Amino acid sequence: MNLLQKLFGNSPANPQSHSYTFSVKCLRCKEIIEGRVDLNNDLSVEYEEGGDVYYARKTLMGENRCFQRMEVELKFTSARELLERHVAGGEFM
Ligand SMILES: [Zn+2]
Repeated sequence: MNLLQKLFGNSPANPQSHSYTFSVKCLRCKEIIEGRVDLNNDLSVEYEEGGDVYYARKTLMGENRCFQRMEVELKFTSARELLERHVAGGEFM
């Protein structure tokens, strides 16, 4: 069982929680890894002209014998709509 399953696998679905889920493919071993951002707790706000912007950064690593880390950066509006996303070491599916 991996860390994400430990953290999220057995918890009951909470209709109040807002999360953004995504899948990235490791560029080295092609493993597809799912990630999830809690839009209530994982975002850090930055003040930009025209409004606040919310950032989340995640580091994902697969379970294969591949130690490629994928650095995911997500950017949301104050309404939690996705503005931009980037990943280093992988690609979004
Ligand atoms: Zn890999």
